Amino acid sequence: MRQKRAKSYKKQMTIYHHTFKFRSPYQVLLDNELVLNITQASYNLMNGLTKTIQGEIKPMITQCCMQALYDTKNQTAIDLAKTFERRRCNHRDAIDPAECIESVVDIDGVNKHRYVVACQNLALRKKLRKIPGVPLIFMNRSVMVMEPLSDVSAKYSREFEEKKLTAGLNSIESRRKAEEEKGASEEESAKKKRKGPKEPNPLSIKKKKKTEPQPTTESAKKKPNRRRKHKSTTESEANSAKEEDSEAKATNEEAEKPNEPVELSAENESS
Ligand SMILES: [Zn+2]
Repeated sequence: MRQKRAKSYKKQMTIYHHTFKFRSPYQVLLDNELVLNITQASYNLMNGLTKTIQGEIKPMITQCCMQALYDTKNQTAIDLAKTFERRRCNHRDAIDPAECIESVVDIDGVNKHRYVVACQNLALRKKLRKIPGVPLIFMNRSVMVMEPLSDVSAKYSREFEEKKLTAGLNSIESRRKAEEEKGASEEESAKKKRKGPKEPNPLSIKKKKKTEPQPTTESAKKKPNRRRKHKSTTESEANSAKEEDSEAKATNEEAEKPNEPVELSAENESS
């Protein structure tokens, strides 16, 4: 049961993190009733909150909730609440704690300061369920419970994910278009640019090819011709043709031969 709860809480906190941009340390706004409840049950608040929220926490209490605790004269509760960060609500005369918390959390229908609200007041929790992205915690006897994601929060999260998806698709399309445009312009510019560095190189290579191989082939052809000129011209022509064929075959064979030891060695390695 505990592990299941921890898993579902973690899932919920992931949504608060991604969709509602909650960040550690999580600000937990506690009401006076919950503080009284846990002091009476001698419950380890920090441990419980850290385990429930599964992250670093910063407990906070409003001035009005603090005043309500002073009114109870429960010194243990007061001392515990004094260790929390005081949230200034600027209510000169303390108002109803639930109303105070609501005024601090609900800023134009948004949980602007990203509070986690830990309160025993069910009416307040019901109100806060209507604001997207308010994690709600309460004590059920001696067990700390996080309410499941409210319908409003779940709907908001769904829409957020859908927007992200479509925005993602749109951005992909726009990226493609931008890249295509960029690519086209880059290709054009690259072609223009490439002409600079590439032109001298191919030309110089071509010149070498034209100048270098021609004398070698000519000399190679001329040399046997000169030798054959000593023989009869008709025979030399026929022989040269045959010789060229045989030479070609020989070169082919020579070209093929080096493959054989490679293949053998490959076979040897594999075997
Ligand atoms: Zn207040």
